[in-house]
Amino acid sequence: MHKILSHLNSDDFSALRNYLSEPRKLVITTHRSPDGDAIGSSLGLYLALHKMGHEVAVIVPDEFPAFLAWMSGAESVLVYESAPSKALPVLRAAEMIFCLDYNAYHRTGELGLHLERANVPKVLIDHHQSPDDFAAYLLSDTSASSTAQLIYEFMEGMEMLQLLDREIAECLYSGLVTDTGSFRFNSTSERTHYIAAQLMKTGMENHLVHQRLFDNNSINRLRLLGFCLSEKLVVLPEYRTAYIALTKSELKRFNYKKGDTEGIVNYALSLQNIVFAAFITEREREIRLSFRSKDGWDVNRFARAYFNGGGHIHAAGGAAQISLAATLEKLEGHLAEHQSELQNA
Ligand code: 5GP
Ligand code: MN
Repeated sequence: MHKILSHLNSDDFSALRNYLSEPRKLVITTHRSPDGDAIGSSLGLYLALHKMGHEVAVIVPDEFPAFLAWMSGAESVLVYESAPSKALPVLRAAEMIFCLDYNAYHRTGELGLHLERANVPKVLIDHHQSPDDFAAYLLSDTSASSTAQLIYEFMEGMEMLQLLDREIAECLYSGLVTDTGSFRFNSTSERTHYIAAQLMKTGMENHLVHQRLFDNNSINRLRLLGFCLSEKLVVLPEYRTAYIALTKSELKRFNYKKGDTEGIVNYALSLQNIVFAAFITEREREIRLSFRSKDGWDVNRFARAYFNGGGHIHAAGGAAQISLAATLEKLEGHLAEHQSELQNA
């Protein structure tokens, strides 16, 4: 049975505080295809635990996009897929493992098998629906804007807030900004803004963080966006849905790099009268689907039901092991089944 860390200053926090009162070997992990929240929350926690005197490492399943590489500590992140022989000994030596921004081992790909085998206490800090039951300590809040927000809550519960500095603040703020669409999604709460304000008190300059995250486009990335919008956007007004689907060769044509398609799905969602947007890409071994929605249309349920995926109500993803054309057919079939819900969303 796991301990629920939902109440600040609870006995569980004091047990953890006690455990971390002497130097430990700690590993922080996050999900595959790490995004701004995954990397921001991992590095924010990494820097704070490091400051406490622990031996800490961040292990990610696969490469993270270049637009996140400016964060403090990014150079020390171990990428399991690129160098398993470096990552695994560190993982095996860990006395405690933090699991951030995911709540099921399979979200970390093959690394998950090693995590499952690691017989040490795990601390799960996450904001996705339906956490699996594997953690000794669980801080799970699906109403939180981001895992970065929960790292702040964790630091408060652990009486670590005095460690906050500009570098940690930049990491956590990046998580807040990227997971809330720059503070505009409905997951943005009063608390989110309060935490952003506390982060700014460290001297962190919000405009610089925003610039590093968003004014960093390659020409290929902008041209790919233009191509998606002018040539590939499919609008299905009868289902209040818009989608963009890209083949492998189209991605290659624009010299696709990890992170290049980040956010394109939001342009489809910005259309008048659209409540459901999908961004679909053909990968080496499967088709990946990324969903966004508004007005209560639940894409987490849709992704779980039909595409072996999940996520949040308004942002989810999944995969299909059929051709791109068959995936689009399947998608449109399920849209038809949900037509009245979509019409009334
Ligand atoms: P994105 O579209 O940005 O890749 O993912 C949106 C949200 O859906 C993220 O919170 C992510 O964790 C979740 N998500 C994406 N793909 C999957 C998947 O295959 N399985 C599950 N369970 N969640 C996913
Ligand atoms: Mn997140």
